[in-house]
Amino acid sequence: MERLTTRTVDAGGVKIGGDNPIVIQSMTNTDTKDVESTVGQIKRLVAAGCELVRVAVPDKESARALKRIRALSPVPLVADIHFDYNLALAALDAGIDKLRINPGTIGAKALKAVVTAAVSQQVPVRIGVNSGSIHRDYRHLSRIDALVKSARYYCEAIESMGCKDLVVSLKSSSVLETYRATEQFALGNDYPIHLGVTEAGTVRSSTIKSSIGIGALLLQGIGDTLRVSVTGPPESEIPIAIGILRALGLRPGVEIISCPTCGRSGYDVAKAAQEVEAHLSRVDLPLKIAVMGCVVNGPGEGRHADFGIAFGPSEGVLFQKGEVVQKMPNGELPAALLKLIDIETRRSEV
Ligand code: SF4
Repeated sequence: MERLTTRTVDAGGVKIGGDNPIVIQSMTNTDTKDVESTVGQIKRLVAAGCELVRVAVPDKESARALKRIRALSPVPLVADIHFDYNLALAALDAGIDKLRINPGTIGAKALKAVVTAAVSQQVPVRIGVNSGSIHRDYRHLSRIDALVKSARYYCEAIESMGCKDLVVSLKSSSVLETYRATEQFALGNDYPIHLGVTEAGTVRSSTIKSSIGIGALLLQGIGDTLRVSVTGPPESEIPIAIGILRALGLRPGVEIISCPTCGRSGYDVAKAAQEVEAHLSRVDLPLKIAVMGCVVNGPGEGRHADFGIAFGPSEGVLFQKGEVVQKMPNGELPAALLKLIDIETRRSEV
C-alpha cells in the first residue's frame, strides 16, 4: 500500500510521518495529578503496544505533575491542552515531547506564545480540529468543509509563526465526516496526519467505527499516527489499533483465519480459535494461522495459511502450507499447533 508523502516530525524520538511506521497512540484517563496512577496506566498502555501517550493537562497541579510523569514514562508524552495557554507553556517547561492544542480554544496572541515556545524547544505541535474548534469564519459551512478550512487556516497561521513540525487531525464522531474531511485535507499538503474517529463509543461501537473510518483512510495511504477512541479503559484501545494495522498489512503480526463453522463442524472451533489467538497476540511475525471446523474442507480452505488445524468428528489434522503434518484427537490440536509454530519460527530465526 503506497502511503501519501508527508514530512517527518520527531516527538521525543518517536518519528511521525515520512516512511516511518504508523504510530499507535492513546490517552490516559487517570487524574494527571496522581503521578503513580498515571504512570501505572502509561506503563500498561506501553505493555499493550502503545507508542506515544497523551496526558490531559486541565490545571496547574497537573502541569506540575508532568515533570515527574515524564521522568518515569517509558515512552514520549503528549500534553493535551485546551483554553489556558499557560498550561501549554508549563507543559513545555516540564519536558513534554509534543503538544496537542485546539487552536480554536486559544486566542491568537496566546497561540503565538505557545508556538514560539514549542519551536524554541523543538517540540512538535498537533493541531486537533473537531466540531468544537471550527473557526468562526467557517461556521456557516457544512461540517466537512468547515473542518477542512479550519485546519488549513490554523496550519497556515501556525506555520507563519515559524512552526513546521505540525501534525494535524480532523475528527468527528461521524465516520463519514471524519473520512471525508481528513481525505480532503490530506490530499492537499504534506502534514503528517493523526487519524481517529472521536467519541466513538464503547469497545464494540468503536471497533466498528474506527475500523471503517481509520481503515478507509489507511487504505488510501493517509495516516501517520492513530488513536482508537474507546469509552472505557484506554488499554482496550490498543488491540483494536494493532488489529486495524495488521488487517491492512501495515504492521507485522499473526493473522488468524478461522472459519465461521457450519453443519460439518463437530468441535468448539470458536474456543480453539480464541485460545490460539490469545497465545499469539504479541507475536509480531507475519504469519497466517488457520483454525478450521472440518477436515473435509479445512486444509483446502486454509491452504494459504502457514500453519493450521482442522477438526474432524473425533480426530483432526495439523497442517503446514496445506500439507497434513499429523493426525490426532481434536482436543490435542490447539496445543500441537502452538508447539509446531514455536519450533518452526525458532528454526527460521537460527
Ligand atoms: S471449514 Fe468446514 S466447518 Fe468450516 S465453514 Fe468450511 S465447510 Fe464448514
